[in-house]
Amino acid sequence: MGPQTGLHRRGNPMAFPFRGVDFLELDSLLTEQERMVRDTARGYAQDKLFPRVLLDYREERFDRAVFSEMGALGLLGSTIDGYGCPGVNYVCYGLIAREIERVDSSYRSALSVQSSLVMWPIYAYGTEEQRQKYLPKLATGELVGAIAMTEPGTGSDLQGVKTSAKRDGNGYVVNGAKTFITNGGTANLIIVVCKTDPAAGAKGTSLVVVRLNCPPEVSMITVGR
Ligand SMILES: Cc1cc2nc3c(=O)[nH]c(=O)nc-3n(C[C@H](O)[C@H](O)[C@H](O)COP(=O)(O)OP(=O)(O)OC[C@H]3O[C@@H](n4cnc5c(N)ncnc54)[C@H](O)[C@@H]3O)c2cc1C
Repeated sequence: MGPQTGLHRRGNPMAFPFRGVDFLELDSLLTEQERMVRDTARGYAQDKLFPRVLLDYREERFDRAVFSEMGALGLLGSTIDGYGCPGVNYVCYGLIAREIERVDSSYRSALSVQSSLVMWPIYAYGTEEQRQKYLPKLATGELVGAIAMTEPGTGSDLQGVKTSAKRDGNGYVVNGAKTFITNGGTANLIIVVCKTDPAAGAKGTSLVVVRLNCPPEVSMITVGR
């Protein structure tokens, strides 16, 4: 094969490995571990994600395998210590998110919803049983999570949530409508923001874990108490 011409390179974006842009010389402030995490995320985003995002976008397809791939590299729930998560600092998390975002904003949203809005509330507010049960599988990407806050009539004002969760025997009956849910079409586990005690105002709001695509199961995470 002859030498690559500019034309050949234009046809093959992989011929230009991304080395990053750093106008403010932020790299000089990073520790060795932070650079290593950044390079792992960058390598994955460039080599594995970049070649398929254009087709995914055109064909309106969300590749479920991305969760397992990110999980295998420790990119999901990265700031959590234990439960199969690496427990790196928030600088590392920011660097991971930046590298994935550079290639595709939707897959970055998928990663941050799984990490910050599903795994973190389970870690911070869940019971030990819930942590053991969900976090390791969310970390590997075996389970995909979503958080359902927004409703057709309620956006950023979460106190206006109308969806209710009422005790019924050993479980809860959840009633309501949610919209704009990242990972909603793929999730096995959705944390649903519900009113459990309307008279108690903000304190009457709870996060309810609803498992989908598996035997029905609902459990409650108590927040703000
Ligand atoms: C890409 C994407 C992904 C999303 N993923 C999720 C998800 O995973 N889960 C989920 O639950 N939701 C998700 N959402 C929905 C998102 O959280 C809502 O769009 C957001 O909460 C805003 O709600 P809204 O659009 O109804 O706007 P509103 O809440 O109606 O707000 C409209 C405007 O009014 C302002 N405003 C609101 N209340 C007040 C107030 N009291 N005082 C002054 N100003 C105010 C707001 O700042 C905003 O500028 C997603 C949205 C997008 C675009």
